[in-house]
Amino acid sequence: MTMNATDREQRHRARMQRKKAVVDAAIERADRDQGLLLVLTGNGKGKSSSAFGMVARALGHGMNVGVAQFIKGRSDSGEEAFFRRQPGVRWHVLGEGFTWETQNLARDTETARRAWAVAREMLRDETLGLVVLDELTYPLKYGWLEVQAVLRDLAARPPMQHVVITGRAAPDALIEAADTVTGLRDIKHAFRDGVRAQKGVDL
Ligand code: ATP
Ligand code: MG
Repeated sequence: MTMNATDREQRHRARMQRKKAVVDAAIERADRDQGLLLVLTGNGKGKSSSAFGMVARALGHGMNVGVAQFIKGRSDSGEEAFFRRQPGVRWHVLGEGFTWETQNLARDTETARRAWAVAREMLRDETLGLVVLDELTYPLKYGWLEVQAVLRDLAARPPMQHVVITGRAAPDALIEAADTVTGLRDIKHAFRDGVRAQKGVDL
């Protein structure tokens, strides 16, 4: 027997009502405000650009934002050019380059330590509603910064301050400490097809 249009309509409505009850109950349960620690990790594209999307959101709400870039991959990103012009943004490029370019462990360690001192200042600044620590996972992964020390400074930040950390291979302890963690999966990337980084998409 085939269902007529009215039956289908009624079944759809009943299903949506059940779904709405579940969603409404979940929304009702989430009744707290707090500063969040977010981690965007994995090999797929979209970690830093997602973090900078949150910078735009925060600025739109009149919040002040601090950004620290731990690995200076390039100095010509569109986000840096754009956000540096916005009031309410403090933007620090703290890294010196990729480790396979600097090839100097002692210097990388020293650079990372100095960079963390700048980040720590931001984590003590109550006027910053959002702090982005872009590519922080690399200094952690290579052991230039101690994970436990970083976690202690993160835990001591102002209670309403949000922090977003990006980078591949986030250490387990960081994932454990975070409130929201997203792993971006690399399904395809045009670079492997021979397309160089494109303005407005990759930088
Ligand atoms: P985006 O800044 O675009 O959000 P991301 O922060 O996730 O990227 P990174 O590892 O920081 O990724 O690399 C930044 C640059 O490398 C961007 O130009 C991005 O397009 C490129 N990229 C990211 N993921 C891949 C990948 N899986 N393969 C090749 N290139 C990538
Ligand atoms: Mg990135």
